[in-house]
Amino acid sequence: MLFSNIIGQEDIKEQLINSVVQNRMSHAIVLLAPEGTGGLPLGLAFAQYLVCEDKQADGACGKCQACIKAAKYIHPDIHFSYPVIPRKPGDKPVSTDYAAEWREFIVAQPYGNAYDWLQFIGAENKQGNITATECQDIIHKLSLKSFESQYKILLMWMPEYLGNEGNRLLKLIEEPPPNTLFLLIAENQEQILATILSRTHLIKVNPLPKEVMVEALISRAQIAPAKARQAATIAAGNYREALYLLQNSDDDYHELLRNWLNYIFTGNRSALQEWVDTVAKMGRENQKQFLRYFINLLEHTLRLKYIDKSLLAFSEEETDFAAKLQKLANLQQMELIMQELDSACYYVERNANAKLLFHALSIKLQYIFKKRPIPMM
Ligand SMILES: [Zn+2]
Repeated sequence: MLFSNIIGQEDIKEQLINSVVQNRMSHAIVLLAPEGTGGLPLGLAFAQYLVCEDKQADGACGKCQACIKAAKYIHPDIHFSYPVIPRKPGDKPVSTDYAAEWREFIVAQPYGNAYDWLQFIGAENKQGNITATECQDIIHKLSLKSFESQYKILLMWMPEYLGNEGNRLLKLIEEPPPNTLFLLIAENQEQILATILSRTHLIKVNPLPKEVMVEALISRAQIAPAKARQAATIAAGNYREALYLLQNSDDDYHELLRNWLNYIFTGNRSALQEWVDTVAKMGRENQKQFLRYFINLLEHTLRLKYIDKSLLAFSEEETDFAAKLQKLANLQQMELIMQELDSACYYVERNANAKLLFHALSIKLQYIFKKRPIPMM
């Protein structure tokens, strides 16, 4: 991966290159990059830059032997660590068990998240893990002399998946062998072991600006400009989400939402029950996207009050819908709804029972629309 293949993030690229040029690179870095902002691509490009034998002002040369190996993700001094699942019960898996799948995944979905990866290796509902065995493997790998490059690099993707066994790595992170780089690529700061965080240099990656994202959707994913603008508006700087929204037509969510609000308003219990059953079967990721879709729509509805409609990249259907929502709920009600949707997202991520969750959420929305205090549930 070359820096030039990455969407935006020019400041981070420059910062990483400068740290090497000026010989002040930290030996343990956490790249904190929210979902869909390019943390993994940045890490891959930086690793290739470090091993490149003919470094250029804007990154690796892309042509030398080291670059050729790094670009295929087979350079012997670039080690990868990432969450995995046991192939069969009782297995103690290490990341390299999935090396072939990993190489395929980072080529196919460099902006993917841990969920995408775990589905890619067939985890279904199993939780991924960076295991104690993996930590031992890392310690072993980094104790070896580097093979071809001046540097030895461990790129760990999603250190959030390290449990307390991650503490086995502390000594190595604190006193690494010479020319060793720990490059941890994370999405959620709160989920990284504090003991690791306190020993690393933190670099924060920002969400992609809308215009950068629109341009990338048009040039990389061949999306029509109007659609690209709409997806970029909703995805709020998250390239993965923009692609996801485009692949899973908004129309479905729109229809789903319209029905939901309709049943809530008419108090149609049996239809509502059926609706909840349908949503419960959609799967966690889809439920989350649906809730986000509603949140984004509410945000846009709120904005509609204050700015010129023509400035918003909105479909006609959605603009109509937003206008209707404005009549149904005032500012305070919309904010309450957003809070409830946010909290529902949180629980969906944590595997809450979907039927109970959407049932309770429907009741809460009924109360909010009727301007009655929300019951404790
Ligand atoms: Zn090179």
